[in-house]
Amino acid sequence: MSFAEAVRAGGIGPGCLVDAVDDVAWLGHAVEDEVVIVPRRGVEVDVADLHQALVDALAVVDVLNALEAGLLDLAGDDSAFDVEAAVGDRVGGRDPLDEADEHGHGDDHEDDQEDGAAAGAEELGEDAGDRRDQDSLQVEAEDRPPRGVALEDHLLSRTEVERHRPQHTRAVRVPPYRDPVSIAKVEPLTTARALRGPFDYRLPAAMADLEVGSLVRVPFGRQRLLGVVVGLADASELPPEKLAEPIEALEAGAPAELVRLGLWIAREYCSTPSRGLQLVLPPGTGAGGQRVRSRLELRAEIAAAGEAALSGSERLGVKQRAVLEALRAGEMSAPDLAAAVGADRGVLRRLEERGLIVTRSSRVRRRSSHPEVGASGGNPELLPEQAAAVGSIVAALDGEAGAPREQLLHGVTGSGKTEVYLAAVEAALARGKGAIVLVPEIGLAPQAVARFRARLGDRFAVLHSALPDGERYDEWRRLRSGEAAVCVGPRSAVFAPLRDLGLIVIDEEHDASYKQEGDPCYDARAVARRRAAESGAVLVAGTATPRPESWLELPRLQLPRRVDGRPMPPVKILDMRQADPRSGALHPDTWAALEGVRAAAAKAIVMVNRRGFAPWLTCRSCGRHWSCPNCDVSLIVHRHSGRVVCHHCAHSEPLPRACGDCGSTTLSRAGVGTEQVEALLAERLAPMPVLRLDADTAGARGAHARILAAFGEAESAVLVGTQMVAKGHDFPEVTLSAILDADATLRFPDFRAAERTFAMVAQLAGRSGRGEAGGEVIVQTLAPVAPSIVHAANHDAATFLTAEIERRRALRYPPFSHLIRIVLKAESEPRLEKAAAELAATLQPALPEETDLLGPAPMFRVRNRHRRRLLLKAGDREGTVAAVRDTVERLAADRSLREVAISVDVDPQ
Ligand code: ADP
Ligand code: ZN
Ligand code: ZN
Repeated sequence: MSFAEAVRAGGIGPGCLVDAVDDVAWLGHAVEDEVVIVPRRGVEVDVADLHQALVDALAVVDVLNALEAGLLDLAGDDSAFDVEAAVGDRVGGRDPLDEADEHGHGDDHEDDQEDGAAAGAEELGEDAGDRRDQDSLQVEAEDRPPRGVALEDHLLSRTEVERHRPQHTRAVRVPPYRDPVSIAKVEPLTTARALRGPFDYRLPAAMADLEVGSLVRVPFGRQRLLGVVVGLADASELPPEKLAEPIEALEAGAPAELVRLGLWIAREYCSTPSRGLQLVLPPGTGAGGQRVRSRLELRAEIAAAGEAALSGSERLGVKQRAVLEALRAGEMSAPDLAAAVGADRGVLRRLEERGLIVTRSSRVRRRSSHPEVGASGGNPELLPEQAAAVGSIVAALDGEAGAPREQLLHGVTGSGKTEVYLAAVEAALARGKGAIVLVPEIGLAPQAVARFRARLGDRFAVLHSALPDGERYDEWRRLRSGEAAVCVGPRSAVFAPLRDLGLIVIDEEHDASYKQEGDPCYDARAVARRRAAESGAVLVAGTATPRPESWLELPRLQLPRRVDGRPMPPVKILDMRQADPRSGALHPDTWAALEGVRAAAAKAIVMVNRRGFAPWLTCRSCGRHWSCPNCDVSLIVHRHSGRVVCHHCAHSEPLPRACGDCGSTTLSRAGVGTEQVEALLAERLAPMPVLRLDADTAGARGAHARILAAFGEAESAVLVGTQMVAKGHDFPEVTLSAILDADATLRFPDFRAAERTFAMVAQLAGRSGRGEAGGEVIVQTLAPVAPSIVHAANHDAATFLTAEIERRRALRYPPFSHLIRIVLKAESEPRLEKAAAELAATLQPALPEETDLLGPAPMFRVRNRHRRRLLLKAGDREGTVAAVRDTVERLAADRSLREVAISVDVDPQ
């Protein structure tokens, strides 16, 4: 029996405890009651005036806590309380279900005010809203916890906190504050750096089941903010009556383990708790609120009385009959019924009221189709090396003594690492544990995803920012509820809300996309290690080209051979310094090899690490150089779009026909990009199709997978592109891979340049010769003797890494020190200089002794902002991070520096 029915039947008396689950939902909407979204709570009623009790109970707690935001908005300060809500119809004209998904679902919107729907309206009669409005309570500024609270001024300027508590305590006893009182420590989600939480809120009895990780909306000064419960306590430094209460609890929060991880990230990467926590919350949750929720669907089933009615003499409308007939075949959803027999919700509601059908609402999983790119299915028997690697991981899963909890799986490209991950994941599942598999950018790994999906089926979930919010939210929930136990995704999947984590795999652990570029600049590999250690999970980092730090720190599992014993392809280094400049971007030998591929009707991959047509445009007569007005960089010629484009900001201009300074029409382009190579190849290798894969062609959703699929399906083709072509796919028909500017990455002034170049060349080399036809690799370079290129050409990671590690040791670079980069940006250069000097001067004395401070050094201007960089080389990581955090926070609060943006990157890549 629902609350309202109980009220009408007089079944509720003083002191009785009503399980409010159905009621509240029912009160929200008569038909689409949704049990799952409403946390189980009780409403204690202690009244004589039952109608008033109902209104007040609604106004007080449970509706406010339990239901969707749509209802809460309605119950907010200005809106009058809608009495109809109390008797079971749509609230304020808004169906809470419509809030379920920001994308909505079209056919569910019909507005069905029905006869009898507002049946009890007159019974209740009064406008409850007025009464509630008199009830706002003044909360003083001191009600904030006293510990060094640095609120922004506007937050303190008016601190009326309005509380949702009815005046009619005579009618409903205010939920008692138990002794000891429950206090939730809440970290508000805000962008303000200066805000120091957490803040104490008093929990009413109805919110007693809040946990660490629960999402709440809280009054905060004049605002209402979303916040995360980061702790629970029995006492506050303030008396309970001085504390405000949360306004509502939201649908889903993060597990406590992830809350700790988010707060750890905030500390470790010099960010704020709010930003750290936002990483671990359900997708679509942020400082702006919770945009996404479950999508619910009403489903109807025929009742025994319905069957009887069909054959009996009961009076049925045409549509009612049609619905019952349709339901005879089995349960159907409301949208399906609407499509099949044109029955709207009113029809269903009346049928339900007559007891002829039973309805329930169920959560619908949103999913889009996934292109299957050359997914090689099957479950091959493992090779001895693979089996040994799996055995070692399983020993760790089983907690065997001496089995390392973290391991590096070093296997050459095509050595069957993915099969090892799959077997390890299956072993974890067999032990009742979940697994996370991190892959570089998932758009870049459609094949890997397809393989996991094929092997793991429904236990598998994907989390990726490219998924529509609704879908991502549903996947998140499937993991949170335990329905799915394996999550595959790029770096943010390290925050997958798995329950019982047994294994974290980091595929292609060398990949730079594991580092987040925006604040917090976390490194998913470090986060994975932390999470694995905290939850007792096993960590496996796999790659053909390990990072020096992983090589040094992790015990190794080796897969030295390709599956089927195919040899690694021979690599030819072509010295472009010796090449005839007239032959252009491609060496004659490269052309010859490509023509061989065409003759054999095979496939080739060509990599040029720059997109666009040509990277420089200059005037031959006056020397004018086209550069970005907002950034200190050249504009790149894009012939396809007929523009010159800045790759650092949105600026672009039409491709000029003449020089604006001198009028000359002899403009010269220099250098090559993917667009130009595509054109060259298409012209010379016709009719072999040439496909281009770079940020310009793969920008649209699904475009990346489509291009790879087209390449996979083609009989014979060339794939041209940026680094994207070297990642995440396995096409056995590729017999040639060529890299045109292998040293481009070496020219960056960065201590990781050699490591990156090695990985890039080795990975590209690994794309060739995976099939029976074998293959070869061509490396064009101006630096043919650079160790990174030579060792990559020899497929010799060990020699490269040994030398690289010694070089880093000598220069005290990571992993022998920790780097922290601080970048300051401002439009005004003098202000920037002043701020940078001040930061350096304040920071220097605060740093631990062994920490070197380099800079401030200028960096090139981007988006009209000048930049300066400070680099710290630290032995004592924690001490240095703490000093940076304190100093930056202090400066961030300094008004004279307000126009200067400061960002901190710990372990920059
Ligand atoms: P890696 O991840 O090391 O590049 P993959 O796991 O993608 O290698 O394996 C390369 C190919 O070899 C895949 O097509 C895979 O199905 C196949 N393969 C892997 N292990 C075996 C095995 N034990 N027997 C037969 N084929 C295998
Ligand atoms: Zn000119
Ligand atoms: Zn620019």
